[in-house]
This record gives sequence, C-alpha cells and structure tokens, in this order.
Amino acid sequence: MEKIQNYINGNLIEPKSGNYFDNVSPVTGEVYSMIPNSDLSDINEAVKAAKNAFGIWSKLSKKERYDHIMHLSNEIENHFDELVKAESKDNGKPEWLARSVDIPRASENFRFFATASLHFDSEIHEMDGKALNYTLRQPIGVAGCISPWNLPIYLLTWKIAPALVAGNTVVAKPSEVTPMTAYIFSQICQKANFPKGVINIVHGYGNKVGDALSRHPDVPIISFTGGTETGKKIAASAAPMFKKISLELGGKNPNIIFEDADFDNAVKMSVKAAFSNQGQICLCGSRLFVQKSIYENFKNAIIKETTNLIVGDPKDENSNLGAVVSKEHMKKILKCIERAKKEGGKILTGGKRIILGGKLKNGFYIAPTIIDGLSVDCETNKEEIFGPLVSIIPFDTEEEVINMANSTKYGLSASLFTKDVSRSHRVAAKIDSGVVWVNTWMLRDLRIPFGGMKSSGVGREGGFKSLEFFTEPKNVCIKI
Ligand code: NAD
Repeated sequence: MEKIQNYINGNLIEPKSGNYFDNVSPVTGEVYSMIPNSDLSDINEAVKAAKNAFGIWSKLSKKERYDHIMHLSNEIENHFDELVKAESKDNGKPEWLARSVDIPRASENFRFFATASLHFDSEIHEMDGKALNYTLRQPIGVAGCISPWNLPIYLLTWKIAPALVAGNTVVAKPSEVTPMTAYIFSQICQKANFPKGVINIVHGYGNKVGDALSRHPDVPIISFTGGTETGKKIAASAAPMFKKISLELGGKNPNIIFEDADFDNAVKMSVKAAFSNQGQICLCGSRLFVQKSIYENFKNAIIKETTNLIVGDPKDENSNLGAVVSKEHMKKILKCIERAKKEGGKILTGGKRIILGGKLKNGFYIAPTIIDGLSVDCETNKEEIFGPLVSIIPFDTEEEVINMANSTKYGLSASLFTKDVSRSHRVAAKIDSGVVWVNTWMLRDLRIPFGGMKSSGVGREGGFKSLEFFTEPKNVCIKI
C-alpha cells in the first residue's frame, strides 16, 4: 500500500515516529494509502529547514522568485490528469469538477500570485515638502499554511503561492482527510528541483501537527482555512505570541430570491449554490430565502431540478454529485437531517444515504436534500452542516429577509436575486457578509478582498490583500 511521505528540506521522508494511519477513499469506502502520523519533532525539522532557506529565498529578486513559481505552475499542468484523478479519489468529488475547478485553480494560483508580485508596490506619504515617508513591504519568515479537505490542493496553493512570492518560506499542513494531492505536489516540487527547504509539507492530525505548527515560536505568521471552532483554537494559541493570523472559517450563507428575479436563473443558481461539491464549499447557499408570492412555484421548480441531479460514480461525466468526504462526515450530515425533522422540517426531496452498486457499494453518498417548514432560528438554520442540504424559507419584505439573513453568527457570503438595481445595492450594503453576489453565485475574481466577518473569519485573502498579509510594512521617514 502506498505510503504518503512528508516533504522536508527537499526530501520525501517518513515521519520520525514511523507511524501511519489509514487514508480512506470516500468513493469506495476502502483504505488505499497510508498517511504519516507526524508530530512535533517533524514540525521542528520542517520549521528548521524553512528558517534556513528563508535567508536565501527572501533575498532573491522578485523576478528570480517569479521564475521558480512559474516553473511550479507549469509542472502542475504537466501532472494535470494525475492530480484530477487523485483529488477525486481522495475527496469524493466528481472528476469533471476537479478537472474544471480544483486543478486549474492550483496552477492558476501560482501564476496569478507570481504575476501579482511583479506589480505589487507600496505607499509613499509626502509631508508638504518637509519629509517623505515610504513603506517597505518585507517578507516575514516561516509561514504556517493550514488548509481544509473540501478544496484540498486549490486552497493549499492559494496560501502557499502568495507566501512564497512575497519572500517567505513555508511549512504547510494539508488536511489529514485529503492529503494525496499535496503529496503529489511535493513530488512535483522535488522533480522540479524547487529550492530545498522553501516549501515543506508535514502530514498528520490537526490537533497534533496543526497545533504544533500554529504554536511554534519560529513561525510568526499563520494562514488558516477551516472550521470556526478550529479557528478559535488557533487564534488562542497564536495570540500570546502576537503572530499575524488570517482565518478563513465557516459559513451559513443566505441565498435570497426576490419576486422580481429572473426565475430560471435563480433556480439554476440556487441548485448550484446548494449542491456543488456535495454542498461542501464554505460559500454554499444553505439557507434559501424566497419571497412569499413566488414561494410555491419556486419550491416546485427547485425540487424538480434537484430530483434530476445524479448522484453517482465520480468518474462518470454524468454524475452531478459524488461522495461526501468521509464516513464520519456522512454520519454527521445524516444526523443533521434527523435533527431537522425533529425541529419540524419537512423533507421535500432526498434526506437519505444512497447506496450505489458494485465497487462503490461502501462509498459515502447522500441524496441532495431540500427541507422546508423550519423556523429561521432553529439549529439547522443556524449551524453550518457542510453537506448537500438546503433549507428553504419564505419571507415577506426586504427588511424581514435582511434580518433573517443576518441572524446567524456567520458572515461569509450571500447571494441575492433581483432585477431591481436599487434594491440590489441597498440589500448588499446591509447584509453581514464579506462577499455578496447579485444574480449569481461563486463568480470569483482572484483580485478581490475575499473573506468573512463575524465568526466566518479574520482578515482578507486575494490579490494584493494576500501580499499585504504575507509582508510586514515598515515605514521609513526621511526628513528633507
Ligand atoms: P477543520 O477546521 O477541521 O480542519 C482544517 C485544517 O485544520 C486541517 O488541516 C486540520 O488538520 C487542521 N486542524 C484541526 N485542528 C487543528 C488545531 N487544533 N490546530 C491547528 N490545526 C488544526 O476544517 P475541515 O473540516 O477540514 O474543513 C471544513 C471547514 O472549512 C468548514 O467549516 C468550511 O466552511 C471551512 N472552509 C472555509 C473556507 C473559507 O474560505 N472561509 C474555505 C473552505 C472551507
């Protein structure tokens, strides 16, 4: 059975303890590789390598770093099919999704930030001829990059790329639930002769390896994407050391359909927002608010679209949904469905596990599920579930729906559907979320400030925001 290895100082190596744990493919429910059960000693070694490499890497010219990073981007493209298959097998997502979203974004992340670094400049503040302030933006040191399982290589590279182009070195900790594409990426780095120690990848459990990384005194900057509860722990361990942290956390995103919306587009987008990647995207629209005058029609239309979705073999191009990421996660989602029923919810479609045939019979598949009849403040409508489940809720007025949309602790993203331009501006300004889409969902421009408010996060990623995060501003004042 294949053993995944850590990537430290340019070497692919076993964890110091020699211990591994099982990597299960959600597609079949079978163990298919072994994950290093790393610990503090592996993190110490990776941080040491990254610290040593920082001296050289941080002093390269922007153009030299650009060349190295573009080379990596090209090499990811050269391993495109291998990465697509691995991401689907490890995560359960359909191969077409990995092929159209995850893997192209991984190489794009490197290309985008390599180019951005050449355009990134800093401020000058001139004091009426008396003095000139200019701000240096300097690399910080070893960056700890911790990423989740839903978009494994996409989100890992979204952190590594800006950290590196800004002149930092990296110790990355991919999710233990989906480590395979990070491992393939480390093989790519090695084959590409990427400078040793600049990227290090340590696999293992979050509460062991992730915790050791976020507490490490020689890691002054932590970029984390994952759940809100984990974010709290990282914030607490990083705070006494005054580390710079960026936290991209959970969401319970409202999707608001006004009666004047383009009906067909709103239905299509609502289905996409609810069930893409089996509902396992932080931006998924899991609370669907529909104005009362069109509620019944909309409900019927979305049920029809949803029952047409095919849950099937991730290799099959016709499968709309693949498997959810793990047995534990499947159980959690099914439990949430039971809780929704107890809270008075009515299952309009789905609501159960799907058993596929043949080799897939032990895989973790759930039917896309729509529930209505729930109060806006029940647990189902307040807590992130992160599965193929959407709750549909009627509303009367604009003011009422804004209050309902803002009634959770989260504030990551929102979508609203209306043809009334004034209303779109008015409502967008009043919604508590870091991102608002109008008449669409998940239309991403990599330059925008991306992130959440309230319990959905701290800080913003994307474009120059990421480069600002991964550099320390230093003002120099020259008296004239
Ligand atoms: P998670 O918080 O369980 O794990 C994320 C990462 O943190 C993993 O690598 C894990 O090993 C590590 N980790 C766990 N405990 C840790 C600890 N004590 N210290 C340090 N690291 C630790 O999240 P998940 O289940 O992998 O991912 C799903 C969550 O991620 C959802 O809540 C989702 O909304 C969120 N997410 C947010 C965004 C965003 O951009 N805001 C994007 C994707 C996913």
